[in-house]
Amino acid sequence: MNESLNIADQELVLHRHPRHKKETLQAWDSADEYLINYFTENELGKHIGEGEQMLLINDGFGALSCFFQDFERTVITDSYLSLSSIKLNMQRNNCPEHNILLQDSLQSFPENVKVVLIKVPKTLSYLEYILQQLRSVVSPDTIIVAAGKVNMIHNSTLQLFEQYIGTTKTSLAKKKSRLIFSLVEQKEIPEKEVALTWEIEKQQWKIHNHANVFSRNHLDIGGRYLMDNLPEGDFTKVVDLGCGNGVVGMAAAQAYPDAQITFIDESYMAVDSARINMLKNFEEEESETARFVVNNGLVGFKPRSYDLILCNPPFHQQQAITDHIAWSMFNDAHFCLAGNGELVIVGNRHLDYQDKLERIFGNCELVTENKKFVILRAVKMD
Ligand code: SAM
Repeated sequence: MNESLNIADQELVLHRHPRHKKETLQAWDSADEYLINYFTENELGKHIGEGEQMLLINDGFGALSCFFQDFERTVITDSYLSLSSIKLNMQRNNCPEHNILLQDSLQSFPENVKVVLIKVPKTLSYLEYILQQLRSVVSPDTIIVAAGKVNMIHNSTLQLFEQYIGTTKTSLAKKKSRLIFSLVEQKEIPEKEVALTWEIEKQQWKIHNHANVFSRNHLDIGGRYLMDNLPEGDFTKVVDLGCGNGVVGMAAAQAYPDAQITFIDESYMAVDSARINMLKNFEEEESETARFVVNNGLVGFKPRSYDLILCNPPFHQQQAITDHIAWSMFNDAHFCLAGNGELVIVGNRHLDYQDKLERIFGNCELVTENKKFVILRAVKMD
């Protein structure tokens, strides 16, 4: 697998983080290459004056952050894994640190931006949030170029650019990617709250969902199945691993009132929604004992420190479908569970999680199943 990006007189070595022994995917894509080549060929750097900067939105693994190392720039992403990849790849390529600011998606966008490069995100709602934030900091002389795989750029994508920014055109496709050019125009901008709130009838919880939260329109059916099948026991230290909006951890907070619940996700928006949801739907005491952590699984957590870990595992990393995050979550869980502690997961029937759990824990019980999902339980033997 190619780890060396040779482009516009630079040679960068880029890895995906977390790194896997059998990694088959590159740490950049043709949309990154298209953006870099367009910027270079059109000398967009000349538009950035003293005290002004570039804004890079959704850099996946650091190709853009590293390539533009000579420019003042702010990088914004909702992904902890992207931020860690960017940091590691910058070190790997000896990029200076003084001229880059790394921000998460909930921080305010900088105001002195002259060139904005956007990798189009998977979800329209997150793109809409980005364009809303962007609108408030750009001026008619700001250059905005976005890029994405052809199959991710739809009419609805371009309509959002038209709606929030101005006249929008696309380039020809190259290596299955396309550029989007949007001119900043004076216009009436619709006032719209991109975050959504809906109710779970059974518990009468109001569930807040930031723009980039998994299953932000409705309760995920896998998540619901796990909420309805929590194990019985006197658990005191519980983790909602890959918490999204936090519904599974909230069900645990209700089922085990004395437990401290730790909500973990790699999306800043997810963890913030989980925090808001505990605060809104639980007594102060319960929401104050809960912990909210943006992290890659349980990496860096102490061994033997939890008695129950609940997980509705992800099967994507950015655009790629993968089971390696589920694998590493299960391994992390095994490391962090105390003796006799339990990992309980929900999974699509066709994903072979049972085999994985048996390999890691030496046991795995089918707790229950329906047409679509299984609930599996593995116990840490001691
Ligand atoms: N628990 C929620 C539910 O049931 O509705 C969300 C489950 S969703 C299938 C998986 C979640 O895992 C997503 O919110 C995703 O952001 C998160 N995730 C993906 N990779 C992660 C990682 N490396 N560490 C922590 N969370 C991760």
